[in-house]
Amino acid sequence: MRRSVGNKFIGRRFFKTIVMFPEYINQLFYLVGEAVILLALLILILSIIVSMLVLYSFKTGNFFAARYMLLGIVLLENVITTLFWITRVDDSIVDDVGVRLRNYINNKEFLKTPCAMRFIFMPQCVRSTECPAKLTPEGIKCVNCGRCNVGEAQKYAESLGYRFFIVPGSSFIKRIIKKYRPRAIVGVGCHMEIKEGLDLCHRHGIPARGVLLLKAGCVATTLDWELFYEAIKEKEPHA
Ligand code: SF4
Repeated sequence: MRRSVGNKFIGRRFFKTIVMFPEYINQLFYLVGEAVILLALLILILSIIVSMLVLYSFKTGNFFAARYMLLGIVLLENVITTLFWITRVDDSIVDDVGVRLRNYINNKEFLKTPCAMRFIFMPQCVRSTECPAKLTPEGIKCVNCGRCNVGEAQKYAESLGYRFFIVPGSSFIKRIIKKYRPRAIVGVGCHMEIKEGLDLCHRHGIPARGVLLLKAGCVATTLDWELFYEAIKEKEPHA
């Protein structure tokens, strides 16, 4: 009994020691608390605004304050996708608009670059599963066997002046950029590859254009080939 009274007494003293901060510390905690709540509110409001802009762009194909919007998507991506998830809206729209937005921002510089100075990076997963092409230091070398659309696409792209690479792995693009310094790039891939590729090009100051796969995966992926041809054919209106 005496022991428990003693424990209570020690506990109370300990508690007093813990909670009795000088007044300025209490003020500081209060200010920090207020700042955290304000910051959280600000992030939420900005995320709602950017989410609405994303939906607007997805529906209309127009972009409002494109650079700020892209900054918003990059910084607030997790909160925005959570908001989409909560409201049961397909959150892949965020990635889709992100890629289109980057393409839109790069468009002017990309079109200024002649086709002969542009490179194409095609993912190897879009080939036929029975592809006979061999791996070389310059990527997988298509022999246009006719088993998939890559051979024809390469032939057409090269007739426009492009250099065409079939990418065997993730470090390949970095190596080719370092080696040949292309002036503009068209990259095909899934959302993640396109996002990383466009960011890589941005770091190297290369205007790039991403073309999303219709069905992503490790093998037998599909591509909207019409969309791809449109993306590589486009030139500056008066070029
Ligand atoms: S067309 Fe080229 S990429 Fe396609 S399967 Fe034949 S060799 Fe492979």
